[in-house]
Amino acid sequence: MPRLTPLLLLLLLTARVFAVGDWTLLKYEGRDYVPLANVGTFYQLGNLQQSGSSLVLRTANRSLRGQVGSPELYINNLKFILSYPVAEVGGQPAISRMDLTKLLEPVLRPSRIQSSVSVETILLDPGHGGHDSGALSLFGCEKNYALDVALRARDLLRAAGFRVYMTRSSDRFVPLEERAAMASRLPNALFISIHFNASGNDATGVETFTLAPRGVPSMANDGPALSDFVPCAGNVRDAENIALACAAHATLVCNSAMFDRGIKRARFVVLRESATPGVLIEGGFLSNANDARRIATAAYRQQMAISILQAVQNYRNAVGPRLPVASVVPRNNSGPTVITTTTPSQ
Ligand SMILES: [Zn+2]
Repeated sequence: MPRLTPLLLLLLLTARVFAVGDWTLLKYEGRDYVPLANVGTFYQLGNLQQSGSSLVLRTANRSLRGQVGSPELYINNLKFILSYPVAEVGGQPAISRMDLTKLLEPVLRPSRIQSSVSVETILLDPGHGGHDSGALSLFGCEKNYALDVALRARDLLRAAGFRVYMTRSSDRFVPLEERAAMASRLPNALFISIHFNASGNDATGVETFTLAPRGVPSMANDGPALSDFVPCAGNVRDAENIALACAAHATLVCNSAMFDRGIKRARFVVLRESATPGVLIEGGFLSNANDARRIATAAYRQQMAISILQAVQNYRNAVGPRLPVASVVPRNNSGPTVITTTTPSQ
């Protein structure tokens, strides 16, 4: 039966309202949304505070910040790009049910991810190689930087007890499909693809991509498109994918203090064709003078390798069976703290 409060009754011209368990569902632009106030109650994040279009849910150690009309959502100060902007549905700030189930739930409660397995193996994927140099700066090219970061991360991960494979360990071209196939063959593994960005403008900072859930637009293309509905092998790992992206992006942003461009969704071949949880990290812009200078230093690339190691460890702790329910990434005073503390609320 619909749960009709006086406030919600006002909304019925623009929204249909249903109560499903603990959630109030709102219909908007053909999609299901849930009120952010409902999110605050369910995840014990307190009462929704609204000032103009700005929205905050906050407790002593966790926060969610967003804005009506914006797809940017900050969880403990780490930027996520939602599949759909925060909307005001009949006077209530709300997020899409897709973002609730495919982003908030696995990020806020990673220990509840049913399909997760204990991580033993890491497949590192340095982007490009051989005739494909990738992006260029005055100091060097993407394929070499990506390989260098991967080799450094390999050594750190092996020293920490992980089995590590690489899609390439030298300057050679490997087709994208082959990289994804290697990932799919490895049990109990994570796939981490390493790239650097380029753009025609002054774009700067780091960003992390993971596979778009079925039916949502890819942020790497104009959309939505019919292809957004084609099932991808990687979608069986939706929950692990976003939890891994969260862990990877948090350490990358914290350690580098680079501008946080957010966690985004795409259907890159290496993400969509692999049934292994995976992410693609972009460690800065070779087209930006400041970013390019940093990327050219061994110290920055070593820091990226350390971030990859810490991300893997934090992810494993967050989802692993019989492991602590809290996972906190390293922080500095200005940086974000993520990922999450698991607080069963039901
Ligand atoms: Zn690249």
